Amino acid sequence: MLSNSLVELDRAHLIHPVASYRGHEAAGVKVLTSARGATVTDASGHQLIDGFAGLWCVNAGYGHESIVAAAASQMRELPYATGYFSLGSEPAIRLAAELAQRAPGDLNHVYFTLGGSDAVDSTVRFVRYYWHARREPLREHFISVEQGYHGSSTVGAGLTALPAFHAGFGVPLSWQHRIPSHYVYRNPAGADDDAIIAASLAALDAKIEEIGGAQRVAAFYAEPIQGSGGVLVPPKGWMKAMRARCKAHGILFVADEVITGFGRTGPLFACSEDDIIPDLMTVAKGLTSGYVPMGAVFMSDHVYDAIADAAGSSAVGHGYTYSAHPVSAAVALEVLRLYENGLLENGARAGARLIAGLQSLRDHPLVGDVRGRGMLAAVELVTDKQRKTPLPAAAEPAKRIFDRAWKNGLVIRAFPTGVLGYAPPLCCSESEIDAIIERTARTLDDTL
Ligand code: PLP
Repeated sequence: MLSNSLVELDRAHLIHPVASYRGHEAAGVKVLTSARGATVTDASGHQLIDGFAGLWCVNAGYGHESIVAAAASQMRELPYATGYFSLGSEPAIRLAAELAQRAPGDLNHVYFTLGGSDAVDSTVRFVRYYWHARREPLREHFISVEQGYHGSSTVGAGLTALPAFHAGFGVPLSWQHRIPSHYVYRNPAGADDDAIIAASLAALDAKIEEIGGAQRVAAFYAEPIQGSGGVLVPPKGWMKAMRARCKAHGILFVADEVITGFGRTGPLFACSEDDIIPDLMTVAKGLTSGYVPMGAVFMSDHVYDAIADAAGSSAVGHGYTYSAHPVSAAVALEVLRLYENGLLENGARAGARLIAGLQSLRDHPLVGDVRGRGMLAAVELVTDKQRKTPLPAAAEPAKRIFDRAWKNGLVIRAFPTGVLGYAPPLCCSESEIDAIIERTARTLDDTL
């Protein structure tokens, strides 16, 4: 049982990430105490299916003894080794090689971070360094997509295009720009795939023009599926068309696979499915299945070579104490083994069942849209299906729906836009997927 004193200590001292501080003080903390597979248990003993894999990250599910053993063994052997200068550790080297082998195209160079935000931050530094190396220092403008999320560091939050991450924080910065999202359900260009892609390409061209031409633009950032913006799946071919247009303009293309990487949409990387090779790619979350923190930047040969040649014998001054941490790398190696020993296949099967199950809720009076790919899905709620009217002041209803789902034994993400997000562990069984659908239906009925 959760003791009152723990609730009070939390209220008094723990600042929660992305929370309403006052709202949280009033509501009190929910504490998880243990987990196995896809099931988590809270402090009162209530068991729930984790339909969100923690924060889109525990792809392998909880309680994998082989992951625990990999971490423990590495901690015993060598708990820390810096990657600075020319030092290193075996797991980090092996992991970089294994990942490069599986990454699309010539993304052959891997820089390890602690998570997604600093992976994105690192790309901004690398991209700037690249353009200086190419003697085009005026390319200092970055373009991302509305409803996109690229972390919450100062630089990354400026590429992120969600209101809560901007208001009061002094971002976006003057060199950070956005184009409208593909948001198929609410796109002013209508629901036709070609029209949406054409509109995005035109918006990119117009933004480049507004900035002063391609010679002022450094990079374009996109998620293969916009996660935190409400699981917005672009039309098929959108990533490929945007990537080609960036190439035509001579602008670097950065794919942010922090959510979509490592089986979330089916294959190891969504870019492979989208048939693109970005210049840089970021990952985190599923890399270690959330057991320990780690992220990474993949760099293509031409970006790496330009940076390496320009620096010559000088250090490229970018690094963290915990870059390429050996314990995280050992965990990631074991998680990678699991992906390739049945986990990706199970995730693909379970994902098809999840999306079909959610589609079966389409007739519910509150359901406006159902979308997703693999084990990444969303249900968008409306009060009027014809007019696509969003839930009123959606932050409060979203919180109530989250609490109802919790009571019904299901963890989901309820976005303030009235969208329910799903990203269950890839290890889910058929009956667990069916339970997610049944508990969602019950939660929607409770909400009417
Ligand atoms: N990029 C994307 C696409 C994300 O979804 C996230 C986090 O959800 C991040 C970057 C930031 O990652 P982190 O929370 O590990 O800093």
